[in-house]
Amino acid sequence: MISSEAPLILEISDLHARVEDQVILNGVNLVLRAGEVHALMGRNGSGKSTLAKVLAGHPSYVVTAGSVRFKGEDLLNLTPEERSRIGVFLGFQYPVEIPGVSNLEFLRVATNARRQQSGRSELDTFEFEDFVHERLKVVQMDPAFLERSVNEGFSGGEKKRNEILQMALLEPLISILDETDSGLDIDALRIVASGVNQLATPETATLLITHYQRLLNEIKPDFVHVMSNGRILRTGGSELALKLEQSGYEWVDESFANQEAD
Ligand code: ADP
Ligand code: MG
Repeated sequence: MISSEAPLILEISDLHARVEDQVILNGVNLVLRAGEVHALMGRNGSGKSTLAKVLAGHPSYVVTAGSVRFKGEDLLNLTPEERSRIGVFLGFQYPVEIPGVSNLEFLRVATNARRQQSGRSELDTFEFEDFVHERLKVVQMDPAFLERSVNEGFSGGEKKRNEILQMALLEPLISILDETDSGLDIDALRIVASGVNQLATPETATLLITHYQRLLNEIKPDFVHVMSNGRILRTGGSELALKLEQSGYEWVDESFANQEAD
């Protein structure tokens, strides 16, 4: 069992956010400590990706109330680049393609920016080659993908593996993985899950966003949260994910309504 004395990594308090004129997050509370794996579930449109984008600092999403602290510091004041450098990693639901930018060079620049911020030496071209080849094994990826443009023409599964490779290189303190399982066949899912498991350490925290139990058979969460209408309505252990698979998301809304009425 994880000690509640483990250092705080991320504290989200009463977070409200909107995009355009639409309010999407309605008071999210969530605390992640070192060594913990959390799963965030909820039906489509419940606000899961919005939360991930707000945490990453996406410019279209405006925080209207609440706070987010990363190791005690205000995260919301930082630019997306600063967040990445201090160890916040977001694996996107739909990774972007960057034609004309070499994957290898992109990964090297990102890795060195993160290393510099955390007081480690930058890696030259040769050192980085060694490091990246070692990390490719975590996701069982062919080195040929390094020579291509970032994600350009990659299949869905290859893009997700490239995201996990990026995570393996950046060594973030918190990894937020948005629907990393979507579009993956079972073999790719296992490889991605095994990569995430290999990279989780007692010093880091992981937030897995998913709406299927499937991924949670491969990565055992310490906590499962269910989001609905921009709030977390329920928190439990991994049994909560199984219950959702049996009973569906209506059960959460109904049981929450009953609880409010009590
Ligand atoms: P989830 O990831 O749980 O499926 P999202 O966070 O993607 O949910 O979306 C939550 C709600 O916010 C949805 O109703 C969606 O249509 C809306 N939304 C998200 N992004 C935008 C946007 N850029 N413009 C307008 N509405 C948006
Ligand atoms: Mg989503």
